[in-house]
Amino acid sequence: MIPANFDYIAAKSLDEALSLLAKHKDDAKLLAGGHSLLPAMKLRLAQPKVLIDLGKIKDLAYIKDEGGQIRIGAMTTHFQIETSDVLRRACPLFPETAVNLGDMQVRNKGTIGGSVAHADPAADWPAAVIAVSAEIVAVGPNGERVIKADNFFVDMLTTALQPGEIIKEIRFAAPKGRVGQSYMKVRHPASGFAVVGVAVTVAVDGSGKCQSAGVGVTGVAPKPYRAPAVESELKGKALDGTTLPAAAALVTYDVNANSDLFATADYRKHLAQVYTRRALETAASRAK
Ligand SMILES: Cc1cc2nc3c(=O)[nH]c(=O)nc-3n(C[C@H](O)[C@H](O)[C@H](O)COP(=O)(O)OP(=O)(O)OC[C@H]3O[C@@H](n4cnc5c(N)ncnc54)[C@H](O)[C@@H]3O)c2cc1C
Repeated sequence: MIPANFDYIAAKSLDEALSLLAKHKDDAKLLAGGHSLLPAMKLRLAQPKVLIDLGKIKDLAYIKDEGGQIRIGAMTTHFQIETSDVLRRACPLFPETAVNLGDMQVRNKGTIGGSVAHADPAADWPAAVIAVSAEIVAVGPNGERVIKADNFFVDMLTTALQPGEIIKEIRFAAPKGRVGQSYMKVRHPASGFAVVGVAVTVAVDGSGKCQSAGVGVTGVAPKPYRAPAVESELKGKALDGTTLPAAAALVTYDVNANSDLFATADYRKHLAQVYTRRALETAASRAK
């Protein structure tokens, strides 16, 4: 459990981190909270020759509401999100997702940027960023690039980030009107990661009918996904005991579910449907 030898450089700015990445290329890895990378290095699944630490770049850790545009810096920790008054007010789905993630030590060090960059298929953040239709802002040798969350997660542990790019922030429009949100998760009893995780945001009109819905799912398939069939089943309807189960039943439509020692594909699909219904019911009750 001892990593291979590596050099360590603490970048003082985003520009310096970009130059270091350009210089060391594939030999280098960015270090954020280290809670995914360091275990991989200890198991020798990752053997970077150079670690470029982003931890000293203080202006990468922030949570801002700029006229309804929420901006979260890549180095913002899970705990900072969990305890953010801005997010509790503007998008409570994010603190609720954070509190479900790992334990206090993980939440104190781990970052949202590191989590989405790592793209673990059982990580919690991907479900939430898909549900709110977030954008991932990356900077690289050719400047800034904005990637929609729907296009960011390409496969297991694989994202749309190009070599030399660094995630700068995650941003999205704060949901408006009568909004209800919920994150529901079945924790793996050993790791705490999501066997199934469902993030839901719904907005209703004055008569209680669904104006818009966002549903992001993690843990079920090799990559997190949006559930468009659920979203369109809800639209324009009262969020009642008929609509919600019918919509939740569609969450695994056309999905190839993962199967492992803990949960078969069929069991995962069943859990996804049950937890989508529960998350929808909770979100609907909060939208009242
Ligand atoms: C015991 C334990 C339990 C956990 N439980 C959960 C859980 O229940 N749910 C869950 O979702 N996660 C869980 N995690 C993972 C945790 O959330 C990590 O913090 C997270 O996945 C990675 O974030 P990090 O900041 O630690 O990134 P690091 O480990 O430092 O980096 C991860 C990867 O992302 C890259 N990277 C980091 N920052 C950037 C950036 N800004 N731009 C581009 N690339 C970047 C790194 O080079 C590396 O490849 C757990 C971890 C542990 C150790």
